Amino acid sequence: MNIEHPENDKQYAGLTVNSGVAQPPVVNPYMKPRRKKPLPTAGEMVEGILKGDITMLSRAVTLVESLNPSHRSLAQEVIEKCLPHSGNSRRIGITGVPGAGKSTSIDVFGLHVLKRGGKLAVLAIDPSSERTKGSILGDKTRMEKLSVHPDAFIRPSPSAGSLGGVARKTRETIVLCEAAGFNNIFVETVGVGQSETAVHSMVDFFLLIQLAGTGDELQGIKRGIMEMADGIVINKADGENIERARLAMAQFKSALHLFPTPESGWYPEVLTYSGYYELGIAEVWDMIDRYFEHVEKNGYFEHKRRNQARYWMYETIDENLRSHFYNNPEIAEMLANKEARVLANVQSSFTAARDVLNRYYSLMGDNFKAED
Ligand code: GDP
Repeated sequence: MNIEHPENDKQYAGLTVNSGVAQPPVVNPYMKPRRKKPLPTAGEMVEGILKGDITMLSRAVTLVESLNPSHRSLAQEVIEKCLPHSGNSRRIGITGVPGAGKSTSIDVFGLHVLKRGGKLAVLAIDPSSERTKGSILGDKTRMEKLSVHPDAFIRPSPSAGSLGGVARKTRETIVLCEAAGFNNIFVETVGVGQSETAVHSMVDFFLLIQLAGTGDELQGIKRGIMEMADGIVINKADGENIERARLAMAQFKSALHLFPTPESGWYPEVLTYSGYYELGIAEVWDMIDRYFEHVEKNGYFEHKRRNQARYWMYETIDENLRSHFYNNPEIAEMLANKEARVLANVQSSFTAARDVLNRYYSLMGDNFKAED
């Protein structure tokens, strides 16, 4: 039963493409649907989280990530109740380009931290994960030792939505993890693009993982990222790479001299290490300990956390206002229309914006007029 298909052409002798058979139903029609476990109440979740129940913590994080409005409001209730029990942790952001050795390093840094006792949560912010269908960060298979450690909780990046939305979910997850007794939080992100700013706004210490390259390491690193870093560590300082790593360290150190004194009064340190061969790990962690001592003593730790809390309040307001505006169907239609007029040069960008805003205000029943 030959069908019409390019590969049924004579030139592909020996190959025949047949028409397929109808797919049988995959689901057994006689099977009773399994009842979904009912959602615990906010009180039950909080109780579980405060006891350090990981299953409850995971369920709450899933609610935080959910797009279902009723899940989200339940999540908010849980977060509010956990908030007084949060804050007691060291939040460390870890960034580096793909291949810099983030997961290898997090695995060994994590074990190093856990040797002192306590618990560690590894979270990730990866705004691209929705596009790539599957996060490349916070992937358990990439952190072999931590993923089987009883005191580690690894959670890949929330995948839905804008960077702001993804970052906010991670910020909320930090609160839940801390309430569950996690006193070390790592937030991993890829060192490209905007996500570092988001991570920087939720951590106490920002660690930049670099590689020694061809001698011009500093090229291609955005100044802004270097300015955010509290520590720069050059990975893969092993074997033949040791000399190059040292050279890179010297270059970073001299580049950092050009930056103004950070508000924290802490001068970022530069170190070399090898995540794979586990060399220099304790030194990296000693640096981080020194940082915490420094900022706890001079009050910057508290100051930064308060600023971050304020930042997240305004971020959340901004996000909400934007989505309320852009998701309004009438506004969306008007925007398309106005955009066409602006592109065709029949209306100026400014009056087009003013018209849309005024329409929005009147839809909201407000007499407010946009400024010209
Ligand atoms: P990520 O993409 O930043 O998470 O990087 P990975 O941790 O997946 O590491 C990328 C590659 O670099 C892997 O093949 C690792 O085995 C290798 N790698 C990581 N750390 C080191 C190191 O300290 N030394 C050497 N030689 N290779 C390393």
